[in-house]
Amino acid sequence: MVAPAAAALTVRCHDLSCRYASARGVVEALRDVTLTLAPHQFVSLVGPSGCGKSTLLRAVAGLLAPSGGNIVFDGAPDGRSPRGGLVVQENGTFPWMTVRDNVAFGLELAGISRSEREAKADAYLARVGLDAFTAHFPHELSVGMRQRVAIGRAIVADAQLLLMDEPFGALDAQTRWVLQGELLRIWEERRPLVLFVTHDIQEAITLSDRIVVMSGRPGRILDDISVPMPRPRAPRVLPPAALALQDHIWHLLEGEVRRGLAVR
Ligand code: ADP
Ligand code: MG
Repeated sequence: MVAPAAAALTVRCHDLSCRYASARGVVEALRDVTLTLAPHQFVSLVGPSGCGKSTLLRAVAGLLAPSGGNIVFDGAPDGRSPRGGLVVQENGTFPWMTVRDNVAFGLELAGISRSEREAKADAYLARVGLDAFTAHFPHELSVGMRQRVAIGRAIVADAQLLLMDEPFGALDAQTRWVLQGELLRIWEERRPLVLFVTHDIQEAITLSDRIVVMSGRPGRILDDISVPMPRPRAPRVLPPAALALQDHIWHLLEGEVRRGLAVR
């Protein structure tokens, strides 16, 4: 059976600015970010540490009110950020819930009955090979397994929008490669719009239809690049076109990273 595609959603950020008040004064995290995310795209956001990637993601998730500009959600049922599809780097699972309940929680918010929630959670866990762990608690799993549970919670909710903040950032390279492939397989079934934050240029190239490159703080958009290579793209042996892209992105970022570290 082929799953129906996720309902089309377009996210438009207009002149988005975000500032935080801190003890040292106001921190300007984002400045004038204008960006349209088209339906079903897998978009990565790369940029130096502290440039406002998580801030942008939180603003799109509706967890943070921008200081300026606005975000429009075209195709969302109530015109607001569709909820349920956020995956963060670590601690994205509830330690007091079993693996099954963690995954099913994505459906609880949608008011779906317990038996249906559990059936959907079990189907996801079986598909990704975690069926032997449904009754385990997160602390009994490896970090990589826990992230697959966190992704499952977002996926089972049939979200229109998946927001992922460095979901593989705490994993070793081999684990990351395997989970990148798994994420793409799952994503291709319904193709929700994905905004994927990573500081790993190679990861962005392996996964994305499009890569948005951000400057150092305050984050602005330096480039917005379509990735033309067909999938699957093996992260271990990038073809020449991907290496050229990696080089281009690094040239955009190197000065920003050096400035952030005060390295001349
Ligand atoms: P990134 O995810 O790209 O590393 P963030 O969006 O987390 O960057 O942060 C952008 C900037 O805003 C950083 O300088 C960070 O220190 C600052 N910042 C983030 N969250 C807060 C907050 N709650 N209060 C004050 N400053 C913050
Ligand atoms: Mg971040």
